[in-house]
Amino acid sequence: MQVIKAKDNSKDLILTAELPTFLVADLLQCPTLPTLPSVAINVLKIARTEQPSVTDFASAIERDPALTMRIITLANSAFFSHTHTKVHSCQEATARLGLDATLAAVMSFSLLQNKGIDAHYQRIWMRSIVASLAARYLAIHLCPDMAGPVFTAALLQDIGIMALRATYPKESTDLYLEAALSHRQLSESEQRLFGCDHSQVGAWLAAKWGVPTPLAQRICDSHGEYNMAATDILCIQLSGPIADAWLSSHPAQSLVTVIREFQTYEGAHSFSLGQLLENIQQQLPALADMLQMAAPPLQDNESLLAEAQQLLFRQTLQLNARLDAQHAELVSLRQRQDELEERSRTDALTGLANRAWLEEKLRKRFVLCQEQSRIMSVVFIDLDHFKKLNDQYGHQMGDLVLENFGKTLQALIREGDLAGRWGGEEFLIILPDENATAALVFARRIAQRLERTPMAHNDQESIHVSVSIGIACLEDGGFGNADELIDAADKSMYFIKRTGRGGIAVYGERGASIMPIND
Ligand code: GH3
Ligand code: MG
Ligand code: MG
Repeated sequence: MQVIKAKDNSKDLILTAELPTFLVADLLQCPTLPTLPSVAINVLKIARTEQPSVTDFASAIERDPALTMRIITLANSAFFSHTHTKVHSCQEATARLGLDATLAAVMSFSLLQNKGIDAHYQRIWMRSIVASLAARYLAIHLCPDMAGPVFTAALLQDIGIMALRATYPKESTDLYLEAALSHRQLSESEQRLFGCDHSQVGAWLAAKWGVPTPLAQRICDSHGEYNMAATDILCIQLSGPIADAWLSSHPAQSLVTVIREFQTYEGAHSFSLGQLLENIQQQLPALADMLQMAAPPLQDNESLLAEAQQLLFRQTLQLNARLDAQHAELVSLRQRQDELEERSRTDALTGLANRAWLEEKLRKRFVLCQEQSRIMSVVFIDLDHFKKLNDQYGHQMGDLVLENFGKTLQALIREGDLAGRWGGEEFLIILPDENATAALVFARRIAQRLERTPMAHNDQESIHVSVSIGIACLEDGGFGNADELIDAADKSMYFIKRTGRGGIAVYGERGASIMPIND
Protein backbone atom coordinates (compact mmCIF):
# COMPACT_ATOMS: atom_id res chain seq x y z
CA MET A 1 0.00 0.00 0.00
CA GLN A 2 1.18 3.48 -0.89
CA VAL A 3 0.03 5.11 2.31
CA ILE A 4 2.50 3.86 4.87
CA LYS A 5 5.98 3.14 3.72
CA ALA A 6 8.25 3.72 6.67
CA LYS A 7 9.19 1.08 9.19
CA ASP A 8 6.09 0.28 11.19
CA ASN A 9 6.80 0.71 14.92
CA SER A 10 3.22 0.31 16.03
CA LYS A 11 3.86 -3.16 17.46
CA ASP A 12 6.28 -1.67 20.01
CA LEU A 13 3.67 0.77 21.30
CA ILE A 14 2.05 0.21 24.65
CA LEU A 15 -1.38 1.69 24.05
CA THR A 16 -3.65 2.46 26.98
CA ALA A 17 -6.18 0.21 25.24
CA GLU A 18 -5.99 -1.68 21.95
CA LEU A 19 -7.33 0.23 18.97
CA PRO A 20 -10.65 -1.34 17.91
CA THR A 21 -10.15 -3.70 14.94
CA PHE A 22 -12.71 -1.91 12.76
CA LEU A 23 -10.86 1.34 13.32
CA VAL A 24 -7.49 -0.06 12.29
CA ALA A 25 -9.05 -1.61 9.18
CA ASP A 26 -10.75 1.70 8.26
CA LEU A 27 -7.58 3.71 8.88
CA LEU A 28 -5.52 1.37 6.72
CA GLN A 29 -8.04 1.56 3.89
CA CYS A 30 -8.32 5.33 3.99
CA PRO A 31 -6.84 6.69 0.75
CA THR A 32 -6.30 10.13 2.23
CA LEU A 33 -4.62 9.08 5.48
CA PRO A 34 -1.94 11.74 6.10
CA THR A 35 1.39 10.69 4.62
CA LEU A 36 4.92 11.94 4.90
CA PRO A 37 7.15 12.80 1.96
CA SER A 38 10.22 10.64 1.43
CA VAL A 39 12.53 13.27 2.97
CA ALA A 40 10.63 13.08 6.24
CA ILE A 41 10.59 9.28 6.07
CA ASN A 42 14.37 9.31 5.63
CA VAL A 43 14.88 11.66 8.55
CA LEU A 44 12.73 9.36 10.67
CA LYS A 45 14.83 6.41 9.57
CA ILE A 46 17.93 8.18 10.82
CA ALA A 47 16.18 9.21 14.05
CA ARG A 48 15.55 5.54 14.77
CA THR A 49 19.19 4.54 14.46
CA GLU A 50 21.33 4.03 17.57
CA GLN A 51 23.17 7.31 17.34
CA PRO A 52 21.59 9.68 14.88
CA SER A 53 23.96 12.47 13.93
CA VAL A 54 23.48 16.08 12.87
CA THR A 55 25.34 15.34 9.61
CA ASP A 56 23.03 12.45 8.72
CA PHE A 57 19.98 14.56 9.50
CA ALA A 58 21.25 17.47 7.46
CA SER A 59 22.15 15.42 4.40
CA ALA A 60 18.70 13.79 4.42
CA ILE A 61 16.99 17.19 4.67
CA GLU A 62 19.16 18.77 1.97
CA ARG A 63 17.48 16.60 -0.66
CA ASP A 64 14.51 18.90 -0.34
CA PRO A 65 15.68 22.47 -1.05
CA ALA A 66 12.41 24.04 0.15
CA LEU A 67 12.53 22.15 3.41
CA THR A 68 16.22 23.05 3.81
CA MET A 69 15.41 26.73 3.46
CA ARG A 70 12.72 26.48 6.08
CA ILE A 71 14.96 24.69 8.54
CA ILE A 72 17.66 27.35 8.11
CA THR A 73 15.09 30.12 8.54
CA LEU A 74 13.74 28.44 11.64
CA ALA A 75 17.22 28.15 13.13
CA ASN A 76 17.74 31.88 12.54
CA SER A 77 14.39 32.83 14.04
CA ALA A 78 14.11 34.50 17.41
CA PHE A 79 12.69 31.27 18.74
CA PHE A 80 15.91 29.33 18.37
CA SER A 81 18.55 31.95 17.89
CA HIS A 82 19.83 33.71 20.98
CA THR A 83 22.75 35.20 19.09
CA HIS A 84 22.93 37.48 16.11
CA THR A 85 25.11 35.03 14.23
CA LYS A 86 23.21 33.69 11.29
CA VAL A 87 23.53 30.10 10.16
CA HIS A 88 23.72 29.41 6.48
CA SER A 89 23.92 25.66 6.06
CA CYS A 90 21.48 22.91 6.85
CA GLN A 91 24.13 21.28 9.03
CA GLU A 92 24.57 24.40 11.16
CA ALA A 93 20.80 24.84 11.34
CA THR A 94 20.26 21.27 12.47
CA ALA A 95 23.02 21.64 15.06
CA ARG A 96 21.40 24.79 16.42
CA LEU A 97 17.90 23.34 16.51
CA GLY A 98 18.96 20.04 17.99
CA LEU A 99 17.78 16.73 16.59
CA ASP A 100 14.43 16.73 18.36
CA ALA A 101 13.37 20.18 17.24
CA THR A 102 14.64 19.45 13.73
CA LEU A 103 12.56 16.29 13.64
CA ALA A 104 9.53 18.24 14.91
CA ALA A 105 10.10 20.90 12.26
CA VAL A 106 10.55 18.39 9.43
CA MET A 107 7.38 16.56 10.46
CA SER A 108 5.36 19.73 10.92
CA PHE A 109 6.43 21.18 7.57
CA SER A 110 5.67 17.85 5.92
CA LEU A 111 2.31 17.50 7.59
CA LEU A 112 1.33 21.02 6.63
CA GLN A 113 1.42 19.92 2.99
CA ASN A 114 -1.32 17.39 3.61
CA LYS A 115 -4.81 18.16 2.48
CA GLY A 116 -6.02 17.52 6.00
CA ILE A 117 -4.56 20.82 7.18
CA ASP A 118 -7.47 23.05 6.35
CA ALA A 119 -8.97 26.00 8.18
CA HIS A 120 -10.63 23.69 10.68
CA TYR A 121 -7.54 21.76 11.51
CA GLN A 122 -5.67 25.04 11.91
CA ARG A 123 -7.38 25.65 15.24
CA ILE A 124 -6.15 22.30 16.49
CA TRP A 125 -2.74 22.88 14.97
CA MET A 126 -2.50 26.23 16.77
CA ARG A 127 -3.35 24.47 20.01
CA SER A 128 -0.46 22.08 19.37
CA ILE A 129 1.89 24.96 18.70
CA VAL A 130 0.96 26.76 21.93
CA ALA A 131 1.12 23.45 23.77
CA SER A 132 4.59 22.71 22.41
CA LEU A 133 5.83 26.05 23.77
CA ALA A 134 4.23 25.42 27.14
CA ALA A 135 5.59 21.88 27.29
CA ARG A 136 9.08 23.05 26.37
CA TYR A 137 9.01 25.76 29.06
CA LEU A 138 7.84 23.25 31.67
CA ALA A 139 10.44 20.70 30.61
CA ILE A 140 13.25 23.27 30.78
CA HIS A 141 12.30 23.80 34.45
CA LEU A 142 11.35 20.29 35.44
CA CYS A 143 13.40 17.93 33.26
CA PRO A 144 15.85 19.99 31.17
CA ASP A 145 17.38 16.96 29.44
CA MET A 146 14.02 16.07 27.96
CA ALA A 147 13.06 19.53 26.66
CA GLY A 148 13.70 18.53 23.01
CA PRO A 149 11.66 15.32 22.89
CA VAL A 150 8.92 16.90 25.01
CA PHE A 151 8.63 19.80 22.54
CA THR A 152 8.37 17.41 19.58
CA ALA A 153 5.75 15.19 21.21
CA ALA A 154 3.66 18.16 22.35
CA LEU A 155 3.70 19.58 18.82
CA LEU A 156 2.55 16.28 17.33
CA GLN A 157 0.13 15.31 20.13
CA ASP A 158 -3.02 15.89 18.09
CA ILE A 159 -2.06 14.42 14.70
CA GLY A 160 -4.55 11.62 15.38
CA ILE A 161 -7.30 14.12 14.59
CA MET A 162 -5.94 14.40 11.03
CA ALA A 163 -6.21 10.65 10.61
CA LEU A 164 -9.71 10.45 12.08
CA ARG A 165 -10.94 13.33 9.94
CA ALA A 166 -9.50 11.76 6.79
CA THR A 167 -10.99 8.35 7.60
CA TYR A 168 -14.40 9.46 8.85
CA PRO A 169 -15.12 12.74 7.09
CA LYS A 170 -18.86 12.52 7.70
CA GLU A 171 -18.81 11.66 11.39
CA SER A 172 -16.05 14.08 12.19
CA THR A 173 -17.57 17.11 10.49
CA ASP A 174 -19.72 17.99 13.46
CA LEU A 175 -17.21 16.79 15.98
CA TYR A 176 -14.23 18.86 14.92
CA LEU A 177 -16.13 21.90 13.73
CA GLU A 178 -17.71 22.42 17.13
CA ALA A 179 -15.38 25.08 18.46
CA ALA A 180 -17.18 25.22 21.81
CA LEU A 181 -16.17 21.66 22.62
CA SER A 182 -13.33 21.46 25.14
CA HIS A 183 -10.46 19.15 24.34
CA ARG A 184 -11.60 16.79 27.07
CA GLN A 185 -15.14 16.70 25.66
CA LEU A 186 -13.68 16.13 22.22
CA SER A 187 -11.77 13.16 23.51
CA GLU A 188 -14.90 11.77 25.18
CA SER A 189 -16.93 12.14 21.97
CA GLU A 190 -14.19 10.35 20.04
CA GLN A 191 -14.27 7.54 22.56
CA ARG A 192 -17.98 7.16 21.95
CA LEU A 193 -17.70 7.33 18.16
CA PHE A 194 -14.48 5.44 17.49
CA GLY A 195 -13.84 3.43 20.65
CA CYS A 196 -10.67 5.36 21.43
CA ASP A 197 -9.48 8.95 21.21
CA HIS A 198 -7.08 10.80 18.94
CA SER A 199 -4.09 10.44 21.26
CA GLN A 200 -4.17 6.68 20.63
CA VAL A 201 -4.80 7.08 16.92
CA GLY A 202 -2.05 9.71 16.71
CA ALA A 203 0.41 7.39 18.41
CA TRP A 204 -0.56 4.58 16.08
CA LEU A 205 -0.20 6.79 13.01
CA ALA A 206 3.16 8.16 14.14
CA ALA A 207 4.38 4.64 14.84
CA LYS A 208 3.21 3.53 11.38
CA TRP A 209 5.24 6.35 9.89
CA GLY A 210 8.17 5.02 11.85
CA VAL A 211 8.76 7.77 14.40
CA PRO A 212 10.96 6.62 17.28
CA THR A 213 8.76 4.60 19.65
CA PRO A 214 9.27 6.88 22.69
CA LEU A 215 7.86 9.77 20.65
CA ALA A 216 4.79 7.76 19.64
CA GLN A 217 4.44 6.67 23.26
CA ARG A 218 4.44 10.27 24.47
CA ILE A 219 1.74 11.15 21.95
CA CYS A 220 -0.29 8.27 23.31
CA ASP A 221 0.16 9.49 26.88
CA SER A 222 -0.70 13.11 26.13
CA HIS A 223 -4.19 12.59 27.58
CA GLY A 224 -5.26 10.63 30.58
CA GLU A 225 -4.45 10.77 34.26
CA TYR A 226 -1.53 13.00 35.16
CA ASN A 227 1.57 10.92 35.36
CA MET A 228 3.38 12.31 38.40
CA ALA A 229 6.08 9.66 38.11
CA ALA A 230 7.25 10.66 34.62
CA THR A 231 7.92 14.40 34.47
CA ASP A 232 8.43 14.45 30.68
CA ILE A 233 4.95 13.01 30.14
CA LEU A 234 3.48 15.31 32.76
CA CYS A 235 4.89 18.33 30.88
CA ILE A 236 3.05 17.19 27.75
CA GLN A 237 -0.12 16.43 29.69
CA LEU A 238 -0.13 19.87 31.32
CA SER A 239 0.64 21.60 28.04
CA GLY A 240 -2.80 20.80 26.57
CA PRO A 241 -4.90 22.61 29.21
CA ILE A 242 -2.51 25.57 29.09
CA ALA A 243 -2.98 25.83 25.34
CA ASP A 244 -6.75 25.49 25.79
CA ALA A 245 -6.70 28.35 28.27
CA TRP A 246 -4.54 30.44 25.97
CA LEU A 247 -6.90 29.98 23.03
CA SER A 248 -10.12 30.06 25.04
CA SER A 249 -12.73 32.76 24.60
CA HIS A 250 -12.88 32.86 28.43
CA PRO A 251 -9.18 32.64 29.19
CA ALA A 252 -9.45 33.64 32.87
CA GLN A 253 -11.91 30.87 33.70
CA SER A 254 -9.84 28.36 31.72
CA LEU A 255 -6.73 29.51 33.55
CA VAL A 256 -8.43 28.77 36.86
CA THR A 257 -8.72 25.17 35.68
CA VAL A 258 -5.02 25.18 34.84
CA ILE A 259 -4.07 26.68 38.20
CA ARG A 260 -6.13 24.03 39.96
CA GLU A 261 -4.45 21.29 37.94
CA PHE A 262 -1.05 22.75 38.73
CA GLN A 263 -1.89 22.78 42.43
CA THR A 264 -2.17 19.00 42.35
CA TYR A 265 1.44 18.79 41.17
CA GLU A 266 4.01 19.22 43.90
CA GLY A 267 6.78 20.33 41.52
CA ALA A 268 4.62 23.30 40.53
CA HIS A 269 6.55 25.69 42.79
CA SER A 270 9.66 25.36 40.62
CA PHE A 271 8.23 27.55 37.87
CA SER A 272 5.90 30.49 37.60
CA LEU A 273 2.72 30.33 35.58
CA GLY A 274 3.09 34.03 34.84
CA GLN A 275 6.51 33.51 33.30
CA LEU A 276 5.27 30.50 31.41
CA LEU A 277 2.52 32.60 29.81
CA GLU A 278 5.00 35.38 29.12
CA ASN A 279 7.28 32.87 27.45
CA ILE A 280 4.48 31.65 25.19
CA GLN A 281 3.68 35.26 24.38
CA GLN A 282 7.25 35.95 23.30
CA GLN A 283 7.83 32.79 21.30
CA LEU A 284 4.46 32.24 19.70
CA PRO A 285 4.56 34.78 16.86
CA ALA A 286 7.88 33.47 15.53
CA LEU A 287 6.98 29.80 15.81
CA ALA A 288 3.50 30.34 14.34
CA ASP A 289 5.02 32.26 11.51
CA MET A 290 7.54 29.50 10.83
CA LEU A 291 4.74 26.99 10.68
CA GLN A 292 2.77 29.30 8.41
CA MET A 293 0.06 30.03 10.90
CA ALA A 294 -1.37 33.37 11.87
CA ALA A 295 -0.62 33.80 15.58
CA PRO A 296 -3.64 34.59 17.70
CA PRO A 297 -3.85 38.12 19.11
CA LEU A 298 -1.56 38.73 22.09
CA GLN A 299 -2.91 38.45 25.60
CA ASP A 300 -2.42 40.79 28.50
CA ASN A 301 -0.97 38.07 30.67
CA GLU A 302 -0.67 40.10 33.81
CA SER A 303 -4.29 41.16 34.04
CA LEU A 304 -5.37 37.75 32.78
CA LEU A 305 -3.55 36.04 35.63
CA ALA A 306 -4.87 38.56 38.15
CA GLU A 307 -8.41 37.96 36.93
CA ALA A 308 -7.88 34.21 37.12
CA GLN A 309 -6.52 34.45 40.68
CA GLN A 310 -9.54 36.51 41.69
CA LEU A 311 -11.89 33.99 40.13
CA LEU A 312 -10.04 31.19 41.85
CA PHE A 313 -10.26 33.02 45.17
CA ARG A 314 -14.00 33.49 44.79
CA GLN A 315 -14.54 29.90 43.74
CA THR A 316 -12.39 28.68 46.62
CA LEU A 317 -14.51 30.70 49.03
CA GLN A 318 -17.66 29.14 47.60
CA LEU A 319 -16.07 25.75 47.76
CA ASN A 320 -15.05 26.31 51.38
CA ALA A 321 -18.59 27.37 52.26
CA ARG A 322 -19.87 24.16 50.68
CA LEU A 323 -17.25 22.14 52.53
CA ASP A 324 -18.19 23.83 55.81
CA ALA A 325 -21.84 22.92 55.26
CA GLN A 326 -20.87 19.35 54.46
CA HIS A 327 -18.66 19.25 57.53
CA ALA A 328 -21.50 20.48 59.76
CA GLU A 329 -23.77 17.84 58.29
CA LEU A 330 -21.15 15.20 58.94
CA VAL A 331 -20.73 16.35 62.55
CA SER A 332 -24.47 16.18 63.19
CA LEU A 333 -24.62 12.73 61.56
CA ARG A 334 -21.80 11.57 63.82
CA GLN A 335 -23.55 13.03 66.85
CA ARG A 336 -26.71 11.22 65.87
CA GLN A 337 -24.75 8.02 65.43
CA ASP A 338 -23.10 8.50 68.83
CA GLU A 339 -26.52 9.05 70.37
CA LEU A 340 -27.86 5.92 68.77
CA GLU A 341 -24.83 3.96 69.91
CA GLU A 342 -25.19 5.37 73.41
CA ARG A 343 -28.85 4.40 73.40
CA SER A 344 -28.03 0.89 72.27
CA ARG A 345 -25.62 0.60 75.18
CA THR A 346 -27.73 2.02 77.98
CA ASP A 347 -30.71 0.84 79.92
CA ALA A 348 -33.69 3.10 79.26
CA LEU A 349 -35.12 3.13 82.78
CA THR A 350 -31.98 3.73 84.85
CA GLY A 351 -29.64 5.31 82.33
CA LEU A 352 -26.94 2.83 83.42
CA ALA A 353 -25.09 0.46 81.09
CA ASN A 354 -27.29 -2.35 79.80
CA ARG A 355 -26.40 -6.01 80.04
CA ALA A 356 -24.87 -6.28 76.55
CA TRP A 357 -22.56 -3.35 77.26
CA LEU A 358 -21.63 -4.80 80.66
CA GLU A 359 -20.80 -8.17 79.12
CA GLU A 360 -18.70 -6.67 76.35
CA LYS A 361 -16.80 -4.45 78.78
CA LEU A 362 -16.24 -7.38 81.10
CA ARG A 363 -14.91 -9.63 78.34
CA LYS A 364 -12.47 -6.97 77.18
CA ARG A 365 -11.38 -6.12 80.70
CA PHE A 366 -10.85 -9.77 81.50
CA VAL A 367 -8.50 -10.21 78.54
CA LEU A 368 -6.65 -7.02 79.44
CA CYS A 369 -6.19 -8.23 83.02
CA GLN A 370 -4.80 -11.52 81.76
CA GLU A 371 -2.42 -9.85 79.34
CA GLN A 372 -1.15 -7.27 81.80
CA SER A 373 -1.47 -9.27 85.05
CA ARG A 374 -3.98 -6.82 86.45
CA ILE A 375 -7.02 -7.40 88.65
CA MET A 376 -10.63 -6.31 88.87
CA SER A 377 -13.67 -6.95 91.03
CA VAL A 378 -17.33 -7.29 90.18
CA VAL A 379 -20.16 -6.45 92.54
CA PHE A 380 -23.51 -8.15 91.98
CA ILE A 381 -26.56 -6.52 93.61
CA ASP A 382 -30.10 -7.81 93.84
CA LEU A 383 -32.87 -5.76 95.42
CA ASP A 384 -34.60 -7.63 98.20
CA HIS A 385 -38.29 -8.53 98.05
CA PHE A 386 -38.83 -6.36 95.06
CA LYS A 387 -41.84 -8.35 93.99
CA LYS A 388 -43.49 -7.38 97.24
CA LEU A 389 -42.63 -3.74 96.69
CA ASN A 390 -44.33 -3.88 93.32
CA ASP A 391 -47.33 -5.59 94.80
CA GLN A 392 -47.63 -3.10 97.62
CA TYR A 393 -47.02 0.19 95.83
CA GLY A 394 -47.60 -0.64 92.20
CA HIS A 395 -45.32 -1.25 89.26
CA GLN A 396 -44.79 2.46 88.57
CA MET A 397 -43.46 2.98 92.06
CA GLY A 398 -41.23 -0.05 91.47
CA ASP A 399 -39.89 1.65 88.35
CA LEU A 400 -39.22 4.83 90.27
CA VAL A 401 -37.28 2.87 92.90
CA LEU A 402 -35.17 1.20 90.20
CA GLU A 403 -34.53 4.59 88.59
CA ASN A 404 -33.45 6.18 91.86
CA PHE A 405 -31.34 3.20 92.80
CA GLY A 406 -29.60 3.58 89.42
CA LYS A 407 -28.86 7.24 90.22
CA THR A 408 -27.56 6.28 93.65
CA LEU A 409 -25.20 3.74 92.16
CA GLN A 410 -24.00 6.16 89.49
CA ALA A 411 -23.24 8.72 92.20
CA LEU A 412 -21.23 6.23 94.23
CA ILE A 413 -18.91 4.81 91.55
CA ARG A 414 -15.64 6.40 90.52
CA GLU A 415 -14.36 7.32 87.10
CA GLY A 416 -13.32 4.16 85.28
CA ASP A 417 -15.88 2.01 87.08
CA LEU A 418 -18.93 0.83 85.16
CA ALA A 419 -22.34 0.35 86.77
CA GLY A 420 -25.10 -1.38 84.82
CA ARG A 421 -28.45 -3.09 85.05
CA TRP A 422 -28.02 -6.82 84.64
CA GLY A 423 -31.76 -7.35 84.34
CA GLY A 424 -34.95 -6.83 86.36
CA GLU A 425 -33.86 -5.66 89.81
CA GLU A 426 -30.30 -6.98 89.44
CA PHE A 427 -27.31 -4.69 89.02
CA LEU A 428 -23.63 -5.23 88.34
CA ILE A 429 -20.64 -2.96 88.89
CA ILE A 430 -17.22 -3.50 87.36
CA LEU A 431 -14.37 -2.12 89.45
CA PRO A 432 -11.14 -2.24 87.42
CA ASP A 433 -7.87 -2.66 89.36
CA GLU A 434 -9.70 -3.11 92.70
CA ASN A 435 -9.27 -6.07 95.02
CA ALA A 436 -11.98 -7.68 97.15
CA THR A 437 -11.28 -5.41 100.12
CA ALA A 438 -11.82 -2.27 98.06
CA ALA A 439 -14.93 -3.79 96.50
CA LEU A 440 -16.22 -4.54 100.00
CA VAL A 441 -15.70 -0.93 101.07
CA PHE A 442 -17.67 0.15 98.02
CA ALA A 443 -20.47 -2.36 98.73
CA ARG A 444 -20.76 -1.18 102.32
CA ARG A 445 -21.13 2.36 101.12
CA ILE A 446 -24.09 1.30 99.00
CA ALA A 447 -25.73 -0.55 101.85
CA GLN A 448 -25.25 2.40 104.20
CA ARG A 449 -26.59 4.83 101.66
CA LEU A 450 -29.72 2.71 101.25
CA GLU A 451 -30.24 2.61 104.98
CA ARG A 452 -30.09 6.38 105.20
CA THR A 453 -31.78 7.36 101.97
CA PRO A 454 -35.26 6.28 100.86
CA MET A 455 -35.51 5.33 97.19
CA ALA A 456 -39.05 6.75 96.89
CA HIS A 457 -41.96 8.16 98.87
CA ASN A 458 -45.55 7.06 99.01
CA ASP A 459 -47.45 10.05 100.37
CA GLN A 460 -45.61 10.73 103.63
CA GLU A 461 -44.11 7.25 103.79
CA SER A 462 -40.44 6.78 102.89
CA ILE A 463 -39.76 3.67 100.88
CA HIS A 464 -36.44 2.08 101.75
CA VAL A 465 -34.96 -0.92 100.02
CA SER A 466 -32.29 -3.33 101.15
CA VAL A 467 -30.00 -5.27 98.86
CA SER A 468 -28.11 -8.54 98.75
CA ILE A 469 -24.60 -8.05 97.42
CA GLY A 470 -22.13 -10.61 96.11
CA ILE A 471 -18.49 -9.75 95.33
CA ALA A 472 -15.91 -11.62 93.29
CA CYS A 473 -12.36 -10.53 92.65
CA LEU A 474 -10.28 -11.83 89.79
CA GLU A 475 -7.30 -12.66 92.00
CA ASP A 476 -9.37 -14.87 94.30
CA GLY A 477 -10.73 -17.60 92.11
CA GLY A 478 -8.58 -18.83 89.21
CA PHE A 479 -11.36 -17.77 86.83
CA GLY A 480 -11.08 -18.96 83.22
CA ASN A 481 -13.32 -16.30 81.72
CA ALA A 482 -15.55 -13.35 82.54
CA ASP A 483 -18.68 -15.51 82.84
CA GLU A 484 -17.09 -17.51 85.64
CA LEU A 485 -16.29 -14.30 87.50
CA ILE A 486 -19.90 -13.09 87.28
CA ASP A 487 -21.11 -16.51 88.28
CA ALA A 488 -18.99 -16.32 91.43
CA ALA A 489 -20.40 -12.90 92.34
CA ASP A 490 -23.92 -14.20 91.66
CA LYS A 491 -23.32 -17.23 93.91
CA SER A 492 -22.07 -14.97 96.71
CA MET A 493 -25.18 -12.84 96.34
CA TYR A 494 -27.43 -15.91 96.53
CA PHE A 495 -25.63 -16.97 99.65
CA ILE A 496 -26.90 -13.76 101.25
CA LYS A 497 -30.41 -14.37 99.89
CA ARG A 498 -30.43 -17.81 101.47
CA THR A 499 -29.13 -16.56 104.78
CA GLY A 500 -31.61 -13.73 105.28
CA ARG A 501 -30.95 -10.91 102.72
CA GLY A 502 -29.59 -7.43 103.38
CA GLY A 503 -25.87 -8.29 103.47
CA ILE A 504 -22.61 -8.67 101.56
CA ALA A 505 -20.64 -11.81 100.68
CA VAL A 506 -17.22 -12.10 99.08
CA TYR A 507 -16.32 -15.08 96.94
CA GLY A 508 -13.75 -16.91 99.01
CA GLU A 509 -10.08 -17.44 98.36
CA ARG A 510 -9.31 -20.35 96.07
CA GLY A 511 -12.92 -20.10 94.92
CA ALA A 512 -14.24 -22.44 97.58
CA SER A 513 -16.09 -20.64 100.33
CA ILE A 514 -18.31 -17.63 100.54
CA MET A 515 -17.67 -15.20 103.34
CA PRO A 516 -20.68 -13.26 104.66
CA ILE A 517 -19.88 -9.80 105.89
CA ASN A 518 -21.76 -8.59 108.88
CA ASP A 519 -21.27 -5.10 110.18
P1 GH3 B 1 -35.59 -11.60 96.30
O1 GH3 B 1 -35.39 -10.84 97.57
O2 GH3 B 1 -35.44 -13.03 96.51
O3 GH3 B 1 -34.71 -11.07 95.25
O4 GH3 B 1 -37.06 -11.33 95.89
P2 GH3 B 1 -37.59 -10.50 94.72
O5 GH3 B 1 -39.01 -10.35 94.78
O6 GH3 B 1 -36.78 -9.22 94.67
O7 GH3 B 1 -37.09 -11.35 93.48
P3 GH3 B 1 -37.88 -12.06 92.38
O8 GH3 B 1 -36.81 -12.51 91.40
O9 GH3 B 1 -38.78 -13.11 92.92
O10 GH3 B 1 -38.77 -10.95 91.73
C1 GH3 B 1 -38.24 -9.88 91.07
C2 GH3 B 1 -39.34 -8.90 90.78
O11 GH3 B 1 -38.83 -7.73 90.16
C3 GH3 B 1 -40.36 -9.49 89.88
C4 GH3 B 1 -40.55 -8.46 88.78
O12 GH3 B 1 -41.86 -8.14 88.48
C5 GH3 B 1 -39.85 -7.24 89.31
N1 GH3 B 1 -39.28 -6.49 88.25
C6 GH3 B 1 -38.37 -6.89 87.35
N2 GH3 B 1 -38.10 -5.88 86.47
C7 GH3 B 1 -38.86 -4.82 86.84
C8 GH3 B 1 -39.07 -3.50 86.34
O13 GH3 B 1 -38.43 -3.08 85.35
N3 GH3 B 1 -39.91 -2.70 86.98
C9 GH3 B 1 -40.62 -3.10 88.06
N4 GH3 B 1 -41.46 -2.26 88.67
N5 GH3 B 1 -40.47 -4.34 88.54
C10 GH3 B 1 -39.62 -5.20 87.96
MG1 MG C 1 -34.78 -9.43 94.25
MG1 MG D 1 -34.29 -11.50 91.43
